[in-house]
Amino acid sequence: MKNPFRTFLITIVILIVVLIGLNFWNAEKKLPQVDYSSFIAQLADDEITKVSITGGTIEATDKFGREFTTYAPNISTILERLENKNITISTRSPQPPVSLFSPLLFILFMGGWMFFMMRQQKPGGGGLFNKNKSPITPEKKTDVTFDDVAGIPEAKEELVETVECLKDSSKFTKLGGHIPKGVLLQGPPGTGKTLLAKAIAGEAGVPFYSMSGSDFVEMFVGVGASRVRNLFEQAKKNAPCIIFIDEIDAVGRSRGGAGAQGGQDEREQTLNALLVEMDGFKSGETVIIVAATNRPDVLDPALLRPGRFDRQVNILPPDVKGREKILKVYAQKLKMGEDVNLKSVAKNTPGFTGAELANLMNESALMAARKNKLCIELPDIEESKDKILMGAERKGMVISDQEKKVTAYHEAGHAIIAEVLPDADPVHKITIIPRGRAMGVTMQVPLDDRHSYSREYLRARVMTLLGGRTAEEIIFNQFTTGASNDLQVATEIATRMVCEWGMSDLLGPRAYVKSDQSFLGTGAARLSYSGETAQAIDMEINKIIEDCYQETMILLEGKIGYLHKLSEVLLENETIDAEEVNIILKCKEVSKLNQEMLQKKRTETQMM
Ligand code: ADP
Ligand code: ZN
Repeated sequence: MKNPFRTFLITIVILIVVLIGLNFWNAEKKLPQVDYSSFIAQLADDEITKVSITGGTIEATDKFGREFTTYAPNISTILERLENKNITISTRSPQPPVSLFSPLLFILFMGGWMFFMMRQQKPGGGGLFNKNKSPITPEKKTDVTFDDVAGIPEAKEELVETVECLKDSSKFTKLGGHIPKGVLLQGPPGTGKTLLAKAIAGEAGVPFYSMSGSDFVEMFVGVGASRVRNLFEQAKKNAPCIIFIDEIDAVGRSRGGAGAQGGQDEREQTLNALLVEMDGFKSGETVIIVAATNRPDVLDPALLRPGRFDRQVNILPPDVKGREKILKVYAQKLKMGEDVNLKSVAKNTPGFTGAELANLMNESALMAARKNKLCIELPDIEESKDKILMGAERKGMVISDQEKKVTAYHEAGHAIIAEVLPDADPVHKITIIPRGRAMGVTMQVPLDDRHSYSREYLRARVMTLLGGRTAEEIIFNQFTTGASNDLQVATEIATRMVCEWGMSDLLGPRAYVKSDQSFLGTGAARLSYSGETAQAIDMEINKIIEDCYQETMILLEGKIGYLHKLSEVLLENETIDAEEVNIILKCKEVSKLNQEMLQKKRTETQMM
């Protein structure tokens, strides 16, 4: 809907500008107007030397060379007077003034615009503006194979059958069964859904038609539906083949929600067209529709019915082994140093999706190339990972010594709490080099992938987050804005502990969810609890934060020597890694910890 509307807006703006311009131009030309009687008076005094008559309008020049205009009610009486005097008279036949608003022009203009829009929205392209957006172009041949997709073996296994169907459908249909029509790939962005769909086409050696759900909805009324029909028509002609619909949730949200508006009508039409097309295959037309979404929860149930997207494949971000395999796929294509241990890289990248790992390897290659290296080494990968996770270093930023000191204590506070609490993720790296929007970063890396969190773990996270601000309070007895993000995240965790995960003693194991906000179209926020409960929820959230805060305070005060030491080392070196943090925190008498111990370790790693 947006595109034509924008075009229309631009047209209107241009029109207005042109009109204003015309107005100015006219104003330039416009002569001062005098009234008829003073013109007559001047005429009687023989002051007029020249007139030019157009209809009833008289343009006159007087003997001083001044020009003006007036309107005569009856030209013939004037003419008589003029002829008696010695005046140059010129006449012109009256012409209708050309105005942009003259109906004819207006109709022409609107007609032209409509014509233009029609051309643009003609299904299958041909529009002037959307040459490169013409959505229905099959990829001639994808050379992606299952070998390019790593780390998601279950998903691949499920799709092997789909490939066989495409290669030889008779194997499945000879007993009278129907081949599956639709496969829905569900999983977070970047987990390789598109890649997998391409691999199916590549393995089966069939054309790959792809389109994104948001392409359908962007369009003018009625166009989405006709594009769907067009897409399927083309695909049927080229069967067997694959139709890939990315972001199917954009069209496939459940229908008839409250607050259905104009824009939604369009979406519904598109969805209906899609359902009709999916039901309308004849036997012999092996077209398999693969759709991808990261919001399977919002899909219209009609889409998931048998005969439509009845195959659903879940794709999760890869685990350690999966990450290692994905890294291997990309390492094959790059010049890697001998020392690079992909297993440990995989271990240190929990939560990374396939796309992020691909990006990591690419960034590392660029990093190594920048340093004129012959191959990618571990430090390049480490540096790229920091860059991806924490944003690029902001080297040019000027920071006052005081600011730096506060940041050092702040980060040291995070780090100490994280190291002291057994349930917290261990510290991986601390830095007070500003990155992205942060003044400093304390990075933690979980020991292994986590899919669920214990209450102790969550409390440890809240405390670690509060550690920064608490350290500032203990040392400087003041707060800075540097903790705002920490506080936000801590509050969010506490809120979810109470409202989603039933982790408060008072409220017990219940979910108090205010209705999913991303679930547009299901009406206003629906409170599933009373006002008193809301108060109790607030109190419980406060209690979690307050308890954690007090505990953090006690812990840090007990470790104040370490806090000083850690920030001292941080101020000196700007970055500390896990090993150094360990050396400092394991040291029994921190005041006697000598600089040489750290220094020695430092030179060792540099030599490696
Ligand atoms: P999605 O469609 O799920 O958002 P994509 O398929 O577009 O994700 O993935 C983006 C890129 O990330 C791919 O082109 C590929 O380079 C890489 N990638 C993602 N997952 C994998 C995987 N499992 N194996 C190899 N590469 C992957
Ligand atoms: Zn912080």
